[in-house]
Amino acid sequence: MAAYEYETHEYDVVVVGAGGAGLRATLGMAEQGLRTACVTKVFPTRSHTVAAQGGIAASLSNMGPDHWQWHMYDTVKGSDWLGDTDAMEYLAREAPKAVYELEHYGVPFSRTEEGKIYQRPFGGHTTEFGEGPAVQRTCAAADRTGHAILHTLYGQSLKNNAEFYIEYFAIDLMMSDDGVCTGVICWKLDDGTMHVFNAKMVVLATGGYGRAYFSATSAHTCTGDGGGMVARAGLPLQDMEFVQFHPTGIYGSGCLITEGARGEGGYLTNSEGERFMERYAPNYKDLAPRDYVSRSMTMEIREGRGVGDEGDHIHLNLSHLPKEALAERLPGISESAKIFAGVDVTKEPIPVLPTVHYNMGGIPTNYWGEVLNPTKTDPNAIVPGLMAVGEAGCASVHGANRLGSNSLIDLVVFGRAAAIRAGDVVDRNSAVPATNTASVDKAFDRFDGLRNANGNVPTAELRLEMQKTMQADAAVFRTSKTMKEGLDKMIAIAGKVDDLKVTDRSLIWNSDLMETLELTNLMPNALATIAGAEARKESRGAHAHEDFTTRDDENWRVHTIARIDGNKTDLAYRPVVKDPLTTEAEGGISLEKIKPKERTF
Ligand SMILES: Cc1cc2nc3c(=O)[nH]c(=O)nc-3n(C[C@H](O)[C@H](O)[C@H](O)COP(=O)(O)OP(=O)(O)OC[C@H]3O[C@@H](n4cnc5c(N)ncnc54)[C@H](O)[C@@H]3O)c2cc1C
Repeated sequence: MAAYEYETHEYDVVVVGAGGAGLRATLGMAEQGLRTACVTKVFPTRSHTVAAQGGIAASLSNMGPDHWQWHMYDTVKGSDWLGDTDAMEYLAREAPKAVYELEHYGVPFSRTEEGKIYQRPFGGHTTEFGEGPAVQRTCAAADRTGHAILHTLYGQSLKNNAEFYIEYFAIDLMMSDDGVCTGVICWKLDDGTMHVFNAKMVVLATGGYGRAYFSATSAHTCTGDGGGMVARAGLPLQDMEFVQFHPTGIYGSGCLITEGARGEGGYLTNSEGERFMERYAPNYKDLAPRDYVSRSMTMEIREGRGVGDEGDHIHLNLSHLPKEALAERLPGISESAKIFAGVDVTKEPIPVLPTVHYNMGGIPTNYWGEVLNPTKTDPNAIVPGLMAVGEAGCASVHGANRLGSNSLIDLVVFGRAAAIRAGDVVDRNSAVPATNTASVDKAFDRFDGLRNANGNVPTAELRLEMQKTMQADAAVFRTSKTMKEGLDKMIAIAGKVDDLKVTDRSLIWNSDLMETLELTNLMPNALATIAGAEARKESRGAHAHEDFTTRDDENWRVHTIARIDGNKTDLAYRPVVKDPLTTEAEGGISLEKIKPKERTF
């Protein structure tokens, strides 16, 4: 057994992650007087949320008529009827409150002439239950919305005495024999010490796992660590086959150009200079949802109408927009286009390609953020002591496809909901659970095994093999053949984790070891993604199956529940929550409005 000394910490709540979701949860917990720690592997304001450009959706009606029910309808349709209806109602209803709270905390939103929060159009956001024109619903702080939110929430959390453990890497959860989460075990990256956090509630806010793919808009730190910890605790992941490709990653670097660029009037063209989205989505054109636009672009390229020497990408045009609008509303992306594509957006189009951007799937939760461990008799059974919020979680409001600007609102609505719930269920007067030494020993054994790993495959090599496989076989378009091959390859790749080679054995700033821990977290996320995709015999949202091209509600309007153990996968299914929170008589949406229908734009 590997012996490491450790320091013990006791809290009511430990939040793992300091992105938008983790910070909103931390702030809400601390405001209620819960003793709260926030553990994060990067400095809070370096979390991937800082890169969010376009904005945050809420039906404030600042630019024209809007209604929470229209936002809910768009989210239901955007999800291709895979989202949980109660959670989607909660999101749309609470969104305006959550945004005004951000405003009062100090987020410097862009303003209209009258001083109201400025809102821009975004894909899939409409009026009149999809019958009316596009709506301006996305609140923005220029094209640096995530940056503004993160800095504000960090300052407010400090003001409310939340305690931060910065550059602490969470290795594994502590779980009691009867399935209660009692804390988390961490490695402090700058001095190599070990830390055990005992807590009455652990909140995973560890973000997405975009780095399971070769080309992604997400930061290199987006390695699905929460999903990895959950899988090792024997708990499931949900709907992992739904991976969003953003239409406009810069060709080559994958760096994101926000959908706000099309919201402000930008449009896509093919090699014939044609605005082809008019053919695929006559009503909403370039502002159709992301799965739709990414597939249309891929089709243009496949049919020989891509741009560039190899005809392998598409043009995004902004040069017709007034220079002042570009400078005021899209300054960040003008700079990105210059640096990463060498393009002056006032004169030339930007070369773009669909790029992995967001994980709709994640750790299953209810709309309070409580983690679910579905059983045959109870599909909504909760795991006591454990919550998940943000991109790491799956509430599920995005279902098979997320609408642009619905993630930032998901972070703050559900970060806030988790805090409200914890305020109710965490007993401030009870004792903090004792250290679970069996969990600690197990985590240290695994850690020590990887630290001394002396096999044949360097971490970077295995990671690349995984990324290339996922990129090729769990792509925008999928066939039975490629997914079967991809799954077999991924099972073999995950098997090679036992043959890893780590060169640096130190404990201080050992990036080789940290990346290895991250790879062991990416692996179950990647496996669940391709296994879930291979099994799902229909097309829905981001899952475009070329051998089963239509949506099959009779058999497949269900959440995939994947349990991963090493390189073994076990799939089960959980029904979608079809009932909203409130009935029409109580002021809720009419069931008739949200019943499944064909999804066209
Ligand atoms: C380039 C880009 C632009 C985007 N633009 C928008 C937009 O305009 N609107 C929108 O709605 N959505 C947007 N999205 C999506 C949205 O920004 C993300 O889904 C969201 O920010 C994720 O937030 P999060 O709080 O869940 O996680 P993150 O912000 O990714 O934070 C994860 C946190 O977990 C911590 N962590 C992870 N693992 C560990 C570990 N093992 N130990 C300790 N700490 C750990 C990290 O340190 C970090 O603090 C964008 C995404 C990208 C990539």
